Amino acid sequence: MTNNKLHMTNQDTIFGKIIRREIPANIVYEDDLALAFTDVNPQAPVHILVIPKKPIPKLAEAEPEDQALLGHLLLTAQKVAEQAGLANGYRVVINTGDDGGQTVYHLHLHILGGRPMAWPPG
Ligand code: 5GP
Repeated sequence: MTNNKLHMTNQDTIFGKIIRREIPANIVYEDDLALAFTDVNPQAPVHILVIPKKPIPKLAEAEPEDQALLGHLLLTAQKVAEQAGLANGYRVVINTGDDGGQTVYHLHLHILGGRPMAWPPG
């Protein structure tokens, strides 16, 4: 493991601070494994982030042992979207790594809705 990798996997992120309530967030859902809160810089009328409490840095670093947790995150996204009233549809996005546009290295699902989404994304 390189120093950089060590840094990336052990570094706490802003989302870790939100999980521990060290910084405020508008939390809309929580259970033993996951937390959901509104994005501070919304890209759609509804923009909610769903994160695992386990600090997986990015999708590319998820392990086979995370299979059930990854499924749980998708079902949590479904639940949170329904709770947010997105009956007409929504988009779920996982940015992964630098080329994927990831800026916070704690795995998260973006739920975007409340307007029609364009395709392809930028
Ligand atoms: P990424 O670019 O890594 O896929 O997404 C990170 C997201 O986290 C961005 O949409 C950004 O607006 C959001 N974000 C960054 N810092 C904070 C924060 O302190 N609080 C909240 N609620 N969202 C944040």
